[in-house]
Amino acid sequence: VGQRIGVLGGTFDPVHLGHLSAASHAVSGLGLDQVLFVPAGQPWQKQSVQASGRDRFAMVSLAIEGVQSFAVSRLEIDREGPTYTIDTLRALRSWPQYEQADLFFITGADAIAEIDSWKDHDQLAQLAAFVAVTRPGFDPTTDPDGATLAVPVIRLDVPGLDISSTLIRQRVARGESIDDLTAPNVVRYIDEHRLYSEPDLSSAS
Ligand code: NAP
Repeated sequence: VGQRIGVLGGTFDPVHLGHLSAASHAVSGLGLDQVLFVPAGQPWQKQSVQASGRDRFAMVSLAIEGVQSFAVSRLEIDREGPTYTIDTLRALRSWPQYEQADLFFITGADAIAEIDSWKDHDQLAQLAAFVAVTRPGFDPTTDPDGATLAVPVIRLDVPGLDISSTLIRQRVARGESIDDLTAPNVVRYIDEHRLYSEPDLSSAS
């Protein structure tokens, strides 16, 4: 029987407790054997990413340290050019350990809402099931105009997803504590590497 593998996509700028909670809920809710965190290299639809791929990878590694069923991959940050999920899933499928696996690509519902605009979106569903993590009550199966998405989407309710990477960057820039938002060794890494100390101009929210 093939393994059930979650592929947790995101910019992770930086990783936070909401991402870890989403990964844990995915393990229990979908019966996964492993969740592979995949920090995006150059998320092509985003205006700006603050921390380097190297720092974002390092922070995810610290955040998941000691959790048996969590792993992190450099595959997207090492790939040249814009990051497309289709390329990632094709690459993972070519790895012997994932050839027979059931893959679940998991990410935030706001990102999944745009899935019909992703590269080769009509081929995505052949490679993986798509899972939108969301707060209870939010419908992740429609696009921003309310139309049903062409790619089937599984919804996974994750309570307490109010934490965001944006909030962390804002708090750090204001010199406020982020102890309640991410893992202690990530807090230390951000401090030691002086990440996010400039005001965040990438988002108005
Ligand atoms: P984003 O716009 O930065 O994030 C959208 C929302 O989802 C934000 O609220 C974000 O919160 C949340 N989110 C992102 N990843 C999450 C996760 N793993 N768990 C829970 N919430 C999450 O989206 P993005 O990071 O650029 O893209 C998400 C994924 O979709 C990436 O893997 C990206 O490569 C993929 N994608 C692919 C294409 C394509 O193939 N063409 C296009 C767009 C996106 P936080 O900021 O707090 O994480």
